[in-house]
Amino acid sequence: QAPESRELAVKWLSDHQGKFDLFINGAWAKPGSKKWFNSVNPATAQSLGKIAAANGEDVGKAVKAARKAQKSWQSIGGHARARHLYALARAVQRNARLLAVLESLDNGKPVRETRDIDIPLVARHFYHHAGWAQLQDQEFPEFEPMGVIGQIIPWNFPLLMLAWKIAPAIAAGNTVVLKPAEYTSLTALCFAEICKDAGLPDGVVNIVTGDGKTGEHLVTHPDVNKIAFTGSTEVGRRIRNATAGSGKHLTLELGGKSPFIVFEDADLDSAVEGVVDAIWFNQGQVCCAGSRLLLQEGIADKMVVKLKERMKTLRIGDPLDKSIDMGAIVAPVQVKTIEKLVETGQKEGAKMWQPDIDVPETGSFYPPTLFTEVQPAATIAQEEIFGPVIVTMTFRTPDEAVQIANNTRYGLAASVWSENINLALDIAPKLDCGVVWINSTNQFDAACGFGGNRESGYGREGGHEGMLEVLKPKTHLKPV
Ligand code: NAD
Repeated sequence: QAPESRELAVKWLSDHQGKFDLFINGAWAKPGSKKWFNSVNPATAQSLGKIAAANGEDVGKAVKAARKAQKSWQSIGGHARARHLYALARAVQRNARLLAVLESLDNGKPVRETRDIDIPLVARHFYHHAGWAQLQDQEFPEFEPMGVIGQIIPWNFPLLMLAWKIAPAIAAGNTVVLKPAEYTSLTALCFAEICKDAGLPDGVVNIVTGDGKTGEHLVTHPDVNKIAFTGSTEVGRRIRNATAGSGKHLTLELGGKSPFIVFEDADLDSAVEGVVDAIWFNQGQVCCAGSRLLLQEGIADKMVVKLKERMKTLRIGDPLDKSIDMGAIVAPVQVKTIEKLVETGQKEGAKMWQPDIDVPETGSFYPPTLFTEVQPAATIAQEEIFGPVIVTMTFRTPDEAVQIANNTRYGLAASVWSENINLALDIAPKLDCGVVWINSTNQFDAACGFGGNRESGYGREGGHEGMLEVLKPKTHLKPV
């Protein structure tokens, strides 16, 4: 199947002659900026095509199209919108192989992950939110859609982040202007075409591509009612400042430095597999990656030995090769950031270890990396590395574990490993974060609200909580 799927992606790229315009009001639109930038395959360093850089005028056109479409999209009602969302879910499934390969080429992540995790979850998000559209009148009788929502997403799960944003927003009767990350715009554009083919009315979903400047135009556009942002804490802060006083609603899904806590009575072999998932899935470029490994003293050495053995078996290589465990890092600049933080970790006295495994010489790759003897205050224990690097610390008591776990500016997720469910259930509420996994990690579902505390942001996406972020309450006072 692999070559066939690959051919689908190659054909899709060549059908567009390597040049991609904006997708506004159900049609391709040339950028007023007359500027395009390169989209590069990080595994090969080769260009996949040219992507339009939208300027303020382009963003204005997209917002205008979204505004024009919004009232009728709202007024067709939840049941009609649900039919459109079901159609989109089925269309994603029909195009799953194309989307999986395209995502893998554009981002560098293993096609096994896009095929088995990302794309099925994308479809699941549209199915799930079709259900909310149907239930809207019943569940949210005194709520209205926000209107036009500007959505800005990162590059680590391009299509999944798009689904997290678009599915609830349009289910609730909003229309959207979405800006994908500059490294990974292709699947958003492919999705826009899928929307058109699936019969979604023009203007409901508009895609503007570009870098942070394009994002700023969207954030500051006066006719956007809400900004939904996923990305770094730094840019989130800038967006919060830029929208202050504007009356715009805001959700921020930001960075993390999530603890992975292993108690002495944990099933260590399962915990090792958990770590592989926590920090080497998607090359560690996961907002809720379990990037701080907190080990209870009695099992710390044993766990590190087991982990090193497992790391020796990881395979890094061509993202389209289904036998690999890790693909490419999204861009050379991201590799540099990882290298710099790893260097800082060593300078600050922590001990670095990498397995002796083959790492491709061309393209942006970085090996799985383990730090031991890390102090909780060290830079690598505090800053998000956003790469395949895990730092290990030890603790004696459950209280000390909680204290170290909560000792960063972030609060996104946590993972607790113990065979004593009472201990795990006692720890979970003490962790200052938006989600706690017990004896598991990286579990997501469209029905569960996801989001962070403190500098990991605020607002939730998914499920009932997520619907409340795309609706606004309205009190109807009727005369008695
Ligand atoms: P980033 O903040 O650099 O960029 C995110 C998006 O914001 C991109 O589309 C970018 O073009 C845009 N942008 C940049 N500057 C902007 C500005 N001034 N105004 C408006 N938009 C602007 O983040 P990234 O490097 O793409 O993604 C990695 C970060 O995303 C990590 O910190 C990660 O933890 C976070 N993330 C969080 C979640 C979550 O759910 N909490 C999920 C995935 C990723």
